[in-house]
Amino acid sequence: MHEYGITESLLNIVEQKAAEAGVERVAVIRIVVGVLTGFAPDSIEFYFGPMSQNTVAEGATLEFEELPVQLRCRVCKSLFTPRERDWTCHECGSSEVDIEGGRELYIKEMEVS
Ligand SMILES: [Zn+2]
Repeated sequence: MHEYGITESLLNIVEQKAAEAGVERVAVIRIVVGVLTGFAPDSIEFYFGPMSQNTVAEGATLEFEELPVQLRCRVCKSLFTPRERDWTCHECGSSEVDIEGGRELYIKEMEVS
């Protein structure tokens, strides 16, 4: 399960930021995850519980914000979210598109208690 490593990285970032800010307890962690990463919030949450024990993030609530796929048409430059598996441009029908969004994975903010 690749979520294990990702959860570990996220927790490391949280601990580092908390240490920098002199925070002793993190209450809420907001994580942005693009749908193209393939990371399942449920799995991250599953690993996070036991992994965060005895850290500043023990007992913290994870809130996920899932970002949709965003594509940019190479022909007409329009930005759109594809429907299902149809990745052709909504405006001009071109299939030459670049992925602009959906691969994100980062901590948006943390709330401390
Ligand atoms: Zn287009």
